[in-house]
Amino acid sequence: MAKIFSILIFGLVLLFPSQTYAAKKIPILIYHSIAEYQGSGQKELYVTPENFQKQMEYLKENGFTPLTFEQWGEVDRIPKPIFITVDDGYKNNLNILTTFNRLRDTSFKPAATLFVISDFIGNPNRLSQADLRTLSASRMFSIQSHTATHPDLTKTSNLQHELEGSKLKIEQITGKPVIALSYPYGNTNRKVLEETKKYYQFGLSTTPQVFIQENKLNENFTLPRLYVKYSTTLADFAKIVLGQ
Ligand SMILES: [Zn+2]
Repeated sequence: MAKIFSILIFGLVLLFPSQTYAAKKIPILIYHSIAEYQGSGQKELYVTPENFQKQMEYLKENGFTPLTFEQWGEVDRIPKPIFITVDDGYKNNLNILTTFNRLRDTSFKPAATLFVISDFIGNPNRLSQADLRTLSASRMFSIQSHTATHPDLTKTSNLQHELEGSKLKIEQITGKPVIALSYPYGNTNRKVLEETKKYYQFGLSTTPQVFIQENKLNENFTLPRLYVKYSTTLADFAKIVLGQ
């Protein structure tokens, strides 16, 4: 019986080699502001709450499973994993909670990773400590680090404050581990990467590609991300999440 089974598997591999061995595409989306554009700042860094909701509905209707980086080990067993990341910790990220509460049900559990700048927490227009605790307690958000002051890490002189300091401060607020870092401006280099590895398990760039897991050295510290912009239509979004 076992022999017949192995012959069957061998036959399947011969018939469908690409399906069997194709490296999985894992889309990691990047957002900034979820709000109506009011005329200040870069328009393309905004996505309206209405468009964001339609995008999340698309994911729900098309069988995607949003994950956070604590669940990285599950990507292989989940058919359509996707990571929703949001940089800079703007107050308008609270709009995401509203959308998630509307869409969550027994079949769809929304989840996003917020990369916050630890020294900016509580500033005007940014999430406060209380906001971060509320979001974290909803179990739909993972609060991670976007450094302490948002410098270009390849040029800063105080990597310890930016990397370790921000991690410790956020952990103190949420009471949960900080394991992922989003590099400001997507900038990193060998030195930054080596320092990041001391405190984190993941480093996210802004290289606009879909992630394909190949088990290359340091690939979890150069994770690419796909921009969702103000001008992104739902048809564009569908292509983005399929990695096309
Ligand atoms: Zn940023």
